[in-house]
Amino acid sequence: YCKISILDITEIKIAEFEILKAKEKAEKAAQVKSRFLSNMSHELRTPLNAIIGTSNILLQEEYMPAQRESFQVLKHSSEHMLQLVNDILDFSKLEAGKMDLENAPFNLKQFLTRAISPFMSGGKPGVRMMLAVDDSLDQETIFDEMRLNQVLNNLLSNARKFTEEGCITLSAKPERSKSDSIIVHFSVRDTGIGIAPNKVRQIFESFEQADTETTRKYGGTGLGLAISKAIVGRMGGELRVTSELGKGSEFHFSIEMKVNHGQKAYVNEESLKVLRDLDGIRILMAEDNPINMLVARRFLLKWKVNVDEAPNGVKALELFRQNQYDLLLIDLEMPEMDGTQAVAEIRKTDTHVPIIAFTAAVYDNMHEDLIRKGFSDFIPKPFRPEELHKKILQLTTYEQLQKFKYG
Ligand code: ADP
Repeated sequence: YCKISILDITEIKIAEFEILKAKEKAEKAAQVKSRFLSNMSHELRTPLNAIIGTSNILLQEEYMPAQRESFQVLKHSSEHMLQLVNDILDFSKLEAGKMDLENAPFNLKQFLTRAISPFMSGGKPGVRMMLAVDDSLDQETIFDEMRLNQVLNNLLSNARKFTEEGCITLSAKPERSKSDSIIVHFSVRDTGIGIAPNKVRQIFESFEQADTETTRKYGGTGLGLAISKAIVGRMGGELRVTSELGKGSEFHFSIEMKVNHGQKAYVNEESLKVLRDLDGIRILMAEDNPINMLVARRFLLKWKVNVDEAPNGVKALELFRQNQYDLLLIDLEMPEMDGTQAVAEIRKTDTHVPIIAFTAAVYDNMHEDLIRKGFSDFIPKPFRPEELHKKILQLTTYEQLQKFKYG
């Protein structure tokens, strides 16, 4: 049988202590590395932007014909370097678990058309670019457009880099539709050099390439796929590859995206540009649907409105009693206390503040009915941003507010 002496226990304790100390040290080192990478890439970006800016200016000014090539080299190399710096920053963010996704509405089909457009020209003569998007994706989704673009851009650049002839196809199709979301399958397929089966796992690791020969021939750092895989992971999907050496590769993933079914897009971005800022206006918005809230918030913030948000009537009342607002936007259908009840409460103490009803239902004599209930006006959902903007302006008599503010 085994007997442990006091001495043994002390030794075990000491060993445990050593291990803990080593672990702490390793964690600290990882943090320092991550902070260093992040600081460095921020620091490098400023001078790099200056170099890129200057080379752009040089290319626009008059120069000797012989200088053109040098300027072009300067421009391309500095842009490439900025890409690397950005990659390193993203990579350290992902490693530290600090990459947050930012959701905003956009039309998925239009987005894919934009994503592939930089690859449509200037490619290799024997390679055709194709876009295959299911028509049902011509609708509004709510997602992090920039990060999705980053992933597709990386996959398309790789496909282009490693394909000498044939075609590259970006495709997207719905896999399953739920009440307020869809699962979309994205794929980038090429007829390029392919990847050996024993290299498939390794290419997703950071700073790894299929073989050293590729670096010599095609350049690159081996960070692109590691970043894309991590971003897709953050999005709740998994980036996978099926490939055959000499035949081609397909990189693909599925992700769940929130959608506004039946809605193509809230925004005509162009027409929004002319809408003026509404800074200084304070609005309380009560809305229980997080997607509607997100969309409305996006516009209000764009117009520089100060917004407070409540997910139901009870919270709205509470905020209303604590703060001063120029206007209230209140959804009619809400849990706990609906819009009509909340407005009845508010009107007991305040008969002036303008209140707009947000409503999905439209019925006969609705306007009169709502006015009788204490609302000032209503906006049917899904709302048009121009209409919301116009009504805010009208009801807050913005001009007067401005005069008052600036004397
Ligand atoms: P980089 O392209 O900067 O080297 P990536 O992480 O994007 O880094 O890719 C890692 C490696 O995976 C590449 O060097 C290449 O060996 C392989 N690879 C990526 N995409 C493809 C592709 N479409 N076809 C063949 N090989 C690929």
